[in-house]
Amino acid sequence: MALRINSLCVKDPKDPRTTKPHQLPIYATSSFEFESIEEGMEIFRDPSQGHLYGRFNNPTVDAVGQKIADLEAHGITDIPAPWGIMTSSGMSAISTLLLATLAPGQKIMTQGNLYGGTTELLLKILSRTARETVLINLKDVSAVRQKLASDPAIKMIYLETPSNPALDCIDLQLIAETASEYGILTVVDNTFCTPMIQQPLAYGIDYVIHSTTKYINGHGNSISGVIIGRDDDGKKLVWNTMKLLGTNCNPWDAWLANNGMKTLALRMRAHSANGQALSSFLSTHPLVDSVTYLGLASHPDHLLASQQMKGYGGMMCFEVKGGYEGGLAFMNAIKIGALAPTMGDVDTLILHPASMSHLNVDRTLRLENGITDGLIRVSIGIEDIEDLKEDFDRALRNP
Ligand SMILES: *Cc1c(COP(=O)(O)O)cnc(C)c1O
Repeated sequence: MALRINSLCVKDPKDPRTTKPHQLPIYATSSFEFESIEEGMEIFRDPSQGHLYGRFNNPTVDAVGQKIADLEAHGITDIPAPWGIMTSSGMSAISTLLLATLAPGQKIMTQGNLYGGTTELLLKILSRTARETVLINLKDVSAVRQKLASDPAIKMIYLETPSNPALDCIDLQLIAETASEYGILTVVDNTFCTPMIQQPLAYGIDYVIHSTTKYINGHGNSISGVIIGRDDDGKKLVWNTMKLLGTNCNPWDAWLANNGMKTLALRMRAHSANGQALSSFLSTHPLVDSVTYLGLASHPDHLLASQQMKGYGGMMCFEVKGGYEGGLAFMNAIKIGALAPTMGDVDTLILHPASMSHLNVDRTLRLENGITDGLIRVSIGIEDIEDLKEDFDRALRNP
């Protein structure tokens, strides 16, 4: 049909491609059109099986979610069909999963030292939907058992290992076994490790979530999250909740996460190597009081980390001499690290919790949680280790 000029403006051009792109394309489209009404009917019958509308699914986003799921389930024989659903952020991965899997009246058991946003979500938002949170020390399995036995409303254990900033580790095997004794779900936020370092699904954990904003992207240029699970029932539930809450990931951010993932294996090895070297260097430095890094034998969870992690990652913290003032002086003197409130990027990122993330937290409460005045948190980058050592040493002496 020969179109008039206004109609021609409106019409999308025909896709002229002859060969398939070597790289995943970004599908910037809000909907998908059907070749025939029969095809449309088929997809409407089960929208999880075809592309229909961008909030439901998108080829770019689906491909990247599946890739992260394949990494998380890699080598685990009892998960033949892992799935991954990407979301608009790490926070939306958490809220979507919790709303999908817990009914009002059901409770979540978790630790007190979660990512700050998660704690706030649980205590301020989720609590308003009649889903209560029970805080407990998840390292104390007999306390966990006792609590589960006495409160049958608890239907999920939600955890982070290692935790931030103390890098406390929780025994994944023990938690998964205990939860299955009581027939309840387990969820691990694996953002700190990525599947290169830790695979919670291997221990029988039901769901893994990530803020893919961090190590999975690795370059600090997108915000996204992912929910990963092991069976189809879970997938339908989570997918349906995601599409109705509208917490879908956009294809551009998914594409950036995929681009970052190509070097994930290399980067995680480099983060771990620099982490080990910088921690060893600082642990003998005269101007440093203590260093917290899982690769150091001095860390109380060094052995557990060695069992359930492959490498110790890039997160570390240390205590400068001179308290709060010492912390501020270091922060102003450091040149190689950016003072940015994120983690997991290729470049070193430094945070002084007492004057930054925890500025509005009561000092006594902060100290109780191990956030001392001179504590510096470092997300160690993949720069040359000699540059890191030189600059940390110079900034500690602050000349
Ligand atoms: C950053 C972070 C989140 C939240 O992710 P966003 O992508 O910022 O929404 C959740 N958990 C952990 C451990 C994080 O570091």
